[in-house]
Amino acid sequence: MTLQERDRAVNWHPYTQMKTAEDAVPIVKGKGIYLFDDEGKEYIDAVSSWWVTLHGHANLYIAQRVSEQLNTLEQVIFAGFTHEPAIQLSENLLKLLPDNHEKVFYSDNGSTAVEVALKMCIQYWHNQGKEKTKILAFKDAYHGDTFGAMSVSGRSVWTKPFGEMLFEVIFIDTPTSENLDNLKFIIKNHSEEIACFIYEPLIQGAAGMLMHQAEDLSELMKFCREQGILMIQDEVFTGFGRTGKLFAANYLSEKPDIMCFSKGLTGGTMPMGITSSTHQIFEAFLSDDKYKTLFHGHSFTANPLACTAALASMELLLKEETLNNINLISKKHLNFSKILQQHPKVEKVRQTGTILAWEIKNNEQTSYFNEIGKILYNEFLKRGIIMRPLGNVMYLVPPYCITSQELDFVYTQIVEVLNQIIV
Ligand SMILES: *Cc1c(COP(=O)(O)O)cnc(C)c1O
Repeated sequence: MTLQERDRAVNWHPYTQMKTAEDAVPIVKGKGIYLFDDEGKEYIDAVSSWWVTLHGHANLYIAQRVSEQLNTLEQVIFAGFTHEPAIQLSENLLKLLPDNHEKVFYSDNGSTAVEVALKMCIQYWHNQGKEKTKILAFKDAYHGDTFGAMSVSGRSVWTKPFGEMLFEVIFIDTPTSENLDNLKFIIKNHSEEIACFIYEPLIQGAAGMLMHQAEDLSELMKFCREQGILMIQDEVFTGFGRTGKLFAANYLSEKPDIMCFSKGLTGGTMPMGITSSTHQIFEAFLSDDKYKTLFHGHSFTANPLACTAALASMELLLKEETLNNINLISKKHLNFSKILQQHPKVEKVRQTGTILAWEIKNNEQTSYFNEIGKILYNEFLKRGIIMRPLGNVMYLVPPYCITSQELDFVYTQIVEVLNQIIV
């Protein structure tokens, strides 16, 4: 049997209608920006394998560090015990975060980082004898697929079967200079019952790389602060250089109370989530009353291998060479966005740092199920480039090790495909 036949016999893939899905492409090897299938065909990973890969695939330095750690200490229970990689990682990360952040809580992925953040906020109020349970979030938000994360995500076809079971959320539009007053009015009306505001800063990834302005978000945050609403900044996607700066936080004049990280945290090598918090949040759990404890944990909390991968990845990220390359990608994206804007089949070109997105003009409404996405996906795959359009929204989120020439090659292919498609 081929790998594809064996896969079909036993595996159930994420976000995949298994009845109509084409065979999954078996990948046998990765190197830098390239992935290789079982027939030796190479693909440029232009989406960083679902936005996680920072320094390319099979990075030797990360592999070496993880391998050493694997031979030293692979895992230890994190209740009652600790270890150097978790201590070092928290120390290193906190140095880069807004200066009000003092504590790090580990979990397994972006969704769990969000669950922890929500529980911290709800219990923060509960521990002080206040029952605030409503959450404020953006329409079209995406914060993950577990129940809490799903609840604070925009209602969509993905959440429909579970609609009745999701908790109550006040959804608002993303801020613009025009609607800010209206948003403040809505928030003020509910401010007594709102426990926290959760948001993807600057870019709503899964919604189709929708972008809003840092000044507008800062103003909204300032208002939430004044209303006593805690803020959860979900940097699962935007963290670790994606936006051109280390964190989206670096663009904002207000500081959140809690931040969530995953995806690029380990350079995309191992699953891990982090929820960071201020002293104010942490302090609300300090008590002689043991019921005020944050009762949350996972078997693999602060896994030493994942912590080591994150340490190695952050070391690479902070190298001048990497930071220069992030700048280079951002500049080249900006130039290419001007070319895209001129293209008759393209509209709504937008860019923040290493993230470039645009839409294919067509008559259908923008939706995840837009057929054009599938056609484009297959066409790029044929050409050896992995792109994964969200409906008619196309985007590039390349690993930072991509060279200028490789990026030019991808741009050229994009223009060729755009010229060729019929919409
Ligand atoms: C991907 C994503 C998540 C969920 O992370 P998982 O690791 O897939 O659970 C949460 N928030 C944002 C902003 C994301 O992009």
